[in-house]
Amino acid sequence: MNEPQNLAPLKAGAVIGILGGGQLGRMLSVAASRLGYRSHIYEPGAAPAGDVAHRVTNAPYEDQAALRAFAESVDVVTYEFENVPTHALDLIESLRPIRPNRRTLAVSQDRLTEKDFLTGIGLTTAPYRNVETESDLAGAIAGIGAPAILKTRRLGYDGKGQVRITDAASAEWTGAPSVLEGFVDFSAEISVIVARGADGQVAAYDPGLNVHQQGILRTTTVPCGLSGALLTDAVLLAAKIVNALDYIGVMGVELFVTPAGLVVNEIAPRVHNSGHWTQAGCVVDQFEQHIRAVAGLPLGDGQRYADVEMQNLIGDDIDRFPELLAQPRTQIHLYGKGDARPGRKMGHVNRVL
Ligand code: AMP
Repeated sequence: MNEPQNLAPLKAGAVIGILGGGQLGRMLSVAASRLGYRSHIYEPGAAPAGDVAHRVTNAPYEDQAALRAFAESVDVVTYEFENVPTHALDLIESLRPIRPNRRTLAVSQDRLTEKDFLTGIGLTTAPYRNVETESDLAGAIAGIGAPAILKTRRLGYDGKGQVRITDAASAEWTGAPSVLEGFVDFSAEISVIVARGADGQVAAYDPGLNVHQQGILRTTTVPCGLSGALLTDAVLLAAKIVNALDYIGVMGVELFVTPAGLVVNEIAPRVHNSGHWTQAGCVVDQFEQHIRAVAGLPLGDGQRYADVEMQNLIGDDIDRFPELLAQPRTQIHLYGKGDARPGRKMGHVNRVL
């Protein structure tokens, strides 16, 4: 790792490189510019972030010359997307620091490595088994029991690459190395958005209650309605994760609430959809917090001062735009995406309750 942990704070006008040009990169760019920085987006596909960034490189991750030119034009590199290919990260890291660090990416790019890490630091996950090939599946189901969920180890998101298994006889195969997870009988899903600065300071936002539909986050509500003891547990375990990884930046930690306590579903080493409420509920939102961390600035005040419900605008929900404009206490964020395909995140609204 060539990253100096105590990199001097970036000066005004410094350039923050962001891998990925979706809505998260877009909102990170806005936050960077408010702090006097410039952003340079690297994105192989369509880049809604490009509208608000200083510069955009539109090139594949295989384009070594483009990657090199990108890295040489920035002061530090961060990402809104954790599945950047390793060879691209290697090249970038030979030239500039990457924050959050490579270890975190390696851990979170593979569900098996992630679960081994989480259980290794004493946290609880769903019971799991490695299912390298289809021939391992029957043995894994015998070990874990049914119902269970088979998830591809890599590249799954929003419920994609997942198969529910009710019994061994009818089990389908995902087609790729996977983990089998026991089905967690949870009463709620919550998440903690936690930040860790370059100086090791940790700050967590108030946990939010998440409701999913068809595997996609629909709403996040704060406060989440859980007891003080569980909230403390949630924040402490998130802090433990970022400390163990020597993490710099914002991370989303998704948790299941069960009668036996909190179970970690997954971690996302970046700003997170379930943290969008912070734009209306906190003086310093998750995007500014992330930029502060990767720029080596002190973390800001993330204390919640309002109750908020965040609702994603998915697909043709965007047609409600005129009606939403008239809603009181409502903040609208649209991502500037052209085509409102079903399941596509087009924007979100934050309603102060
Ligand atoms: P993931 O992509 O792993 O976040 O899973 C998407 C959604 O599927 C989660 O938000 C849960 O609602 C559900 N889910 C995932 N894993 C489990 C599990 N082991 N037990 C019960 N529900 C799960």
